Amino acid sequence: MHAMILKKLKTPLEWIELPERVPGPHEIRVKVLACGVCRTDLHVVDGELPNPKIPIIPGHEIVGRIDALGTQVKGLSVGERVGIPWLGHTDGNCPYCLMQRENLCDNPLFTGFTRDGGYATAAVADARFAFPLGEAGSDISIAPLLCAGLIGWRSLVMAGDAKKIGFYGFGAAAHILAQVAHWQGRSVYAFTRPGDERTQAFAKSLGAAWAGGSDAAPPEPLDAAIIFAPVGALVKPALEAVRKGGRVVCAGIHMSDIPSFPYRILWEERELLSVANLTRKDGLDFLRLAPQIDIKVKTTQYPLREANQALSDLAEGRFEGAAVLTP
Ligand SMILES: [Zn+2]
Ligand SMILES: [Zn+2]
Repeated sequence: MHAMILKKLKTPLEWIELPERVPGPHEIRVKVLACGVCRTDLHVVDGELPNPKIPIIPGHEIVGRIDALGTQVKGLSVGERVGIPWLGHTDGNCPYCLMQRENLCDNPLFTGFTRDGGYATAAVADARFAFPLGEAGSDISIAPLLCAGLIGWRSLVMAGDAKKIGFYGFGAAAHILAQVAHWQGRSVYAFTRPGDERTQAFAKSLGAAWAGGSDAAPPEPLDAAIIFAPVGALVKPALEAVRKGGRVVCAGIHMSDIPSFPYRILWEERELLSVANLTRKDGLDFLRLAPQIDIKVKTTQYPLREANQALSDLAEGRFEGAAVLTP
């Protein structure tokens, strides 16, 4: 197999040939068909997340076809198309797993971070954390659903039943979730980098009721806001944009520091919370819903060997929607 591997933090990924891997008893091996590029991959490469496995093959939005099964795998078969997400393994018996919050497991493994991921021609995954995908939809358009979609979905659920909902940062996750929220009958207010009229027009084309710069106030108070951008300085404007009792959800795994702000901005029972990882239930719920919505996923395709270019284009905001690698 071949892979793009991170040998040292803050250095470019390197193309490498590795021996074929043999799945363990509870694992599957897939031939990778497509792998999405997530902002979290940038945080991994830049060393912004604690305790990575190094060297690591990044990538946790894997669409693959099973070509080998462990002896104990049940319910999956060779030839089946599956999705492999960020949550790669849990212990199943820590207090968080036992309270149905496996996203907070004390002993997890994360695909493309603490176990090898999908920037490769093949990947091995814990079968219990893979989602059967069926055959509807293209590999490339499904890949971004596996993190941008799933964790975005979890964030939307955490935002509650808000009718007017703001999205700060309109990249891979927001462009998918805007369509979901619109389908649910909510009004989406899209906040982009100030002056980024191209992305504002993109948001409106996906059903956003309003789009503007993150330095602008929305035309009316919002019920909730989700911050997708890794920018702590957005917490204050987002709290100012929501009404009394409104909620602000930080959807990312990493954010720059949050500057201090006067207590009155949080007061009146506004809530600020974060979303971490996903549960398998989030994945099943979202993947069941997605085909009904006919989500248009905007993708920019890169050959696997150009993963470094995809990452730098993501960092610089050079494309709309999501980048996807194909072997
Ligand atoms: Zn656990
Ligand atoms: Zn991700």
